[in-house]
Amino acid sequence: MEDKVNLLDLDAEELERFLAALGQEKFRARQIYQWLHKGIRNADEMTNLSKGLRQRLDEVAYIGKLNVANKLVSRLDGTTKYLFELNDGNLIESVMMLYKHGVTACISSQVGCRMGCSFCASTGAGFVRNLSAGEMLDQVLSIQTDSGKRVGNVVIMGIGEPLDNYDNIVKFLRLVNHPDGLNIGYRHISLSTCGLVPEIIKLSRENMPITLSISLHAPNDEIRGQIMPVNRKYSIDKLLEACKIYTEVTKRRLTFEYAMISGVNDSRENALELAGRIKRMLCHVNLIPVNTVSGTSYKKSNRQNINLFRGILEGYGIETTVRRELGSDINAACGQLRRNTVVVE
Ligand code: SAH
Repeated sequence: MEDKVNLLDLDAEELERFLAALGQEKFRARQIYQWLHKGIRNADEMTNLSKGLRQRLDEVAYIGKLNVANKLVSRLDGTTKYLFELNDGNLIESVMMLYKHGVTACISSQVGCRMGCSFCASTGAGFVRNLSAGEMLDQVLSIQTDSGKRVGNVVIMGIGEPLDNYDNIVKFLRLVNHPDGLNIGYRHISLSTCGLVPEIIKLSRENMPITLSISLHAPNDEIRGQIMPVNRKYSIDKLLEACKIYTEVTKRRLTFEYAMISGVNDSRENALELAGRIKRMLCHVNLIPVNTVSGTSYKKSNRQNINLFRGILEGYGIETTVRRELGSDINAACGQLRRNTVVVE
């Protein structure tokens, strides 16, 4: 399998070139692209191709397929967490959330993560490898196939740091947006990053009007440095400067994610300091009561603190929402995804 190409990894132009090398015309590439993005995994089911071409495809390529190793459905809200096995046996998790406005797929970008945030489960077992663009697309396709529902929104907020896998992420975004494929608009896609400054600036120039979310989680370098090692490389000032470039170039409002951790980052002073830093930015703040992760002692802020924090930010004219916690009974909420099997009783 190793020397064969995974057809899901090819963008439309690459597929054209691949087919041209097999002596095939452009329209064949388009037909195959459409089949692949419908979730067809077998060249034999591509009924508008000749038998000869189907056989040839089997000889020179393969179609990657995630195996559903486990599936948990939340009794609270129908959120479904998938444990997918990749072709090489590695495991990742993805989540399907049901909102009034449609189905959202939360996908992983890496096997494990090397960012080391102290409150996040995804980083616990270390980093193994990047996911290819096709493996990210496959998470969306597999969720659609398994659930029978059409995915309308994609959030890259699962395991991994997407901007640490830059080229594959950008390729994936083009794949899901392609009109011959899933055709999901950039405005229906959110990407969350812990704050890799050079890549945020690079992303601003890709001409992709996605929603960028920044995992900020602290009002100053002292606190952020304690809970997010990435802050030792890129300070909050540098990060906010990159965010300003991003909003100026794209004209898109960005989201700051802020996990509320009792006694760590949720005081009145913390809110005032945060407001002072971001009040003139084109942004929105999403407060997330921190989810419990085994191996950490962090506790959720109480409702009163969260409301006070929110009130202070709003007093400075900063739009603030509190994230609904979906799938918490199946460990499918923010920061609870990991690359190994966890037994939930
Ligand atoms: N690496 C990217 C993508 C992960 S997205 C990033 O850092 O943004 C997952 C989101 O959940 C991030 O905002 C992350 O900081 C947040 N998160 C991680 N652990 C959490 C926890 N225990 N409770 C609430 N949110 C958490």
